[in-house]
Amino acid sequence: MQVSANRLDRGFEKYQAEFEKKAVDVLRSGRYVLGKEVSAFEEEFADFTGAKYCVGVGSGLDALSLGIRALGIGQGDEVIVQGNTYIASVMGITINGAMPVFVEPDMFYQIDATKIEEKITPKTRAVMVVHLYGQVACMDSIVELCKKHNLMLIEDCAQSHGACFDRKMTGTFGEVGCFSFYPSKNLGGFGEGGAVITNNREVADFIRILRNYGSEKRYYNKVIGTNSRLDELQAGLLRVRLRHMEEITQERERQAEYYGAGIQNAQIILPNGRKRTRTVWHQYVLRVQERKFFQQYLEQNGVGTIIHYPIPPHMAEAYGYLGYHKGDLPITEKYAEEVLSIPMYSGMTREEQDWVIEMINRFGESGNQ
Ligand SMILES: *Cc1c(COP(=O)(O)O)cnc(C)c1O
Repeated sequence: MQVSANRLDRGFEKYQAEFEKKAVDVLRSGRYVLGKEVSAFEEEFADFTGAKYCVGVGSGLDALSLGIRALGIGQGDEVIVQGNTYIASVMGITINGAMPVFVEPDMFYQIDATKIEEKITPKTRAVMVVHLYGQVACMDSIVELCKKHNLMLIEDCAQSHGACFDRKMTGTFGEVGCFSFYPSKNLGGFGEGGAVITNNREVADFIRILRNYGSEKRYYNKVIGTNSRLDELQAGLLRVRLRHMEEITQERERQAEYYGAGIQNAQIILPNGRKRTRTVWHQYVLRVQERKFFQQYLEQNGVGTIIHYPIPPHMAEAYGYLGYHKGDLPITEKYAEEVLSIPMYSGMTREEQDWVIEMINRFGESGNQ
């Protein structure tokens, strides 16, 4: 049997008729950028999260970089962020000229709330939490800490659509929640897309201007903005998927539970959801010391896997100028060497999961390593 790491076609097939109808409607409408689909999606996504405002943008990276810019963070400022994240979280900071300050993750792969305080300096303006893999950071301590030190809170929710802490949605704890709708995300489109949610009207208005060349009124440009507009086709298709979001999330919860009950191998560390959270399982991430052998073994047995992520941002060539060395963030680096995401996607069958479980459970039996 062959089980790929991801199958985006399955997620499409699930609601194929609805997607196709919407696509044709948008194509026939004659309006393709920033129209009624975008405004409707913004309203519906704000409702979904419980935020007051939502502004659609061109990508998750733009959601981060414009969100951070709208908060007035830039040159000379520091933003605290976890070391084990996708590079986009860090680029959202550095594109604005600000400095990332890395904190080690906890056992749930989220920023370790107990290690933030020691990294605060007079230059610190904000803490960015990432909610990596669809798991959730320890939000009560982090919100309290930000209040105490008068820091802004930014949430990178590119992997956490629908995830909650104490029933409150990720993205609504701080000044801005930044989402990506890249096709592989839990709420994925069919191309690029992103959004910022906020309860601050001025921040929302400013991002609305920034995404459209810095203009509110056509050809009257207030600031030097960018072109980062969500298009009508993406917005329309995202509205279709958003209607099914609860079902999509529950499917992942069932898949995670099934893996959790089925995988039994002393060499494998399984992921756990934090108490008081709803984890949405963007990735199902194992840890194994013999990762290279394990990944090859799975590949040979038809199971595709992905490493999220092999090189942590502080070790990326792009961030050489920050001056970090191997060993500076030992937990982050250890995770980068041991994590492996196994197949999990909308439309994955029980048979496919059974195959993955069986292959994992057989790993290490004599003769197959
Ligand atoms: C995907 C992702 C982003 C960036 O989103 P794009 O839409 O690809 O720009 C940012 N942060 C995290 C954690 C992501 O997983």
